Amino acid sequence: MIEIHQFPCLKDNYGFLAHDPESGTTVAIDTPDGEKYLIEASNRGWTIDEIWNTHWHPDHAGGNELIKKETGCRILGPAGEAEKIPGIDQDLSGGDEIGLGDMKVNIIDVPGHTLGHIAYHIPSAKTAFVGDALFALGCGRVFEGDADMMWKSLSRLKALPADTTIYCAHEYTQANARFALSVDPDNPALTAYAKEVEAKRSRGDWTVPTVLSRELEANPFLRADDADLQAAMGHAGDPVATFAEIRARKDSF
Ligand code: ZN
Ligand code: FE
Repeated sequence: MIEIHQFPCLKDNYGFLAHDPESGTTVAIDTPDGEKYLIEASNRGWTIDEIWNTHWHPDHAGGNELIKKETGCRILGPAGEAEKIPGIDQDLSGGDEIGLGDMKVNIIDVPGHTLGHIAYHIPSAKTAFVGDALFALGCGRVFEGDADMMWKSLSRLKALPADTTIYCAHEYTQANARFALSVDPDNPALTAYAKEVEAKRSRGDWTVPTVLSRELEANPFLRADDADLQAAMGHAGDPVATFAEIRARKDSF
């Protein structure tokens, strides 16, 4: 079974190393801090064989070149923004399949935050690495795409098995929870989740990873197809306009 080592990087990013003990393969998911990744890997006796980038932002691909120089690893990343991924060896887009040891890994297109953003889904490990597409109780800012594109991307993630563990790239959950309560105050699943997040953060505990089933119930950005939330946002029957309204409110919250 896959081992995932998670560690804080930069201000509020998480770093992830995924290790398959059977084949001895180690993958770095994004590279917010190359030096930290090298230290965390070597502390475990692991050598980074591959980097899987989700998108081009420097807090996700900034450590690529250092890690490649030190380990000779291969770099896989989004075809849609390959020219912005330092050291990329292999372009990936939705529907592609790669491997981690014997495990299949499916590539999912999740553009919106950036135009080429991809996610990595490992069905046999019930695990997905989603970068800045989806956060616990939030989603990425729509910098390069539009609301329609981002809603389609989130809909692809919504369709994964509900028991999928979601590794998102930032610890933003406490601020996300406070915002979520402002748009969906009567949602008991959200109220309970938000309470738990406050308690965890007050102890300094991490709120990542999350599980898709909890996000489906509580994350307003995944609930733009919910009739009550649509009505509350003034866009009955329109998930894209509802999503756009929630995103706009969050951007100025
Ligand atoms: Zn980003
Ligand atoms: Fe980021």
